[in-house]
Amino acid sequence: MLELRGIRHRYGERVVLELDTFTVPGDAQLAIVGPNGSGKSTLLRILALVERPTEGEVLLDGRPAQARRRDITMVEQQPILLQGTVRDNLGYGLRARGVGARDAAGLVESVASRLGLVPLLERRRHELSDGEIQRVAVARALAISPAVLLLDEPASAADRGAAQTLYHALAEERRHRPFAVCLASHQLEDAYRWTDDIRALADGRVSPVTPENLFRVDIPARAEAGLKHVAIGRLTIALLSERSGPAIIGIAPSDILVSRERLPSSARNALPGRIVRLTQQRSGAIQVTADVGVELVAVVSPEAVGELGLAPGAETVFTFKASAVRTF
Ligand code: ADP
Ligand code: MG
Repeated sequence: MLELRGIRHRYGERVVLELDTFTVPGDAQLAIVGPNGSGKSTLLRILALVERPTEGEVLLDGRPAQARRRDITMVEQQPILLQGTVRDNLGYGLRARGVGARDAAGLVESVASRLGLVPLLERRRHELSDGEIQRVAVARALAISPAVLLLDEPASAADRGAAQTLYHALAEERRHRPFAVCLASHQLEDAYRWTDDIRALADGRVSPVTPENLFRVDIPARAEAGLKHVAIGRLTIALLSERSGPAIIGIAPSDILVSRERLPSSARNALPGRIVRLTQQRSGAIQVTADVGVELVAVVSPEAVGELGLAPGAETVFTFKASAVRTF
């Protein structure tokens, strides 16, 4: 298990990451999601020991990770390939670790075939597309069998097909040999489809809410009858908060009740809208995305989809309490 403790990272005066704890279990299939600038790459670079945190420590299986830095590999968003062919690049880490030439050649062939890179083996970096470079970099990382593989936006330069190949290959690898994969992505679809543990970052902190339901708002100083109201576009949401001024609010998808019609209830927020899409999560639960003025996401069981007749285009009401709206 890779673990961060008491991390605070600053660039100049600015704190860009603040995490009391952050753990990547040994067999994790984890995604870090969040908007641009939320700290995803910084978090990965600290986990990968590429960047030293201003404060705090990085532990691998309970000991300072530094001693086992070769077990942790990161693929940067814009990886740099070395001179030479793709074959040379895939073998480089193996040779650096003292693997003999014959064994290394065999390992290179096998990782290349698993990632669909055999036709590219003799090419040089200027003969590759950005997506192919990313795939070679992932293969290069996999070739050395790391205990923890950190991927920064691994499919950002890939088309859909190449992204599928990449994620399938990762899943296949993990079937042969368990290891931790932690990827940073702003593509939520990838995160939901290919990982089973999603951590959302907002302004350098882990948020308990997935990023779809995070909004920047201005909280008024005055409450009316104990409630405050904030505007998100043309939508108004009631919440309970002592705070005022600019803030991020979040509604956990599991705190939203999904129905077809308005229900008699004490909940202060009942938002009518239309279902945009249904997505199955790896856990089996169904994510319901509705346009209620903005897009909001709720989760329901597969049974509820049939019982309520939930389908894209159907009218729906999303209901949640003012106390379910969290502020950050
Ligand atoms: P993300 O990957 O989620 O887009 P980053 O981790 O790249 O976010 O950046 C987090 C914050 O830290 C941003 O505000 C960014 O501008 C800032 N930042 C990142 N790298 C540096 C750096 N080398 N120097 C100064 N600020 C940086
Ligand atoms: Mg980034």
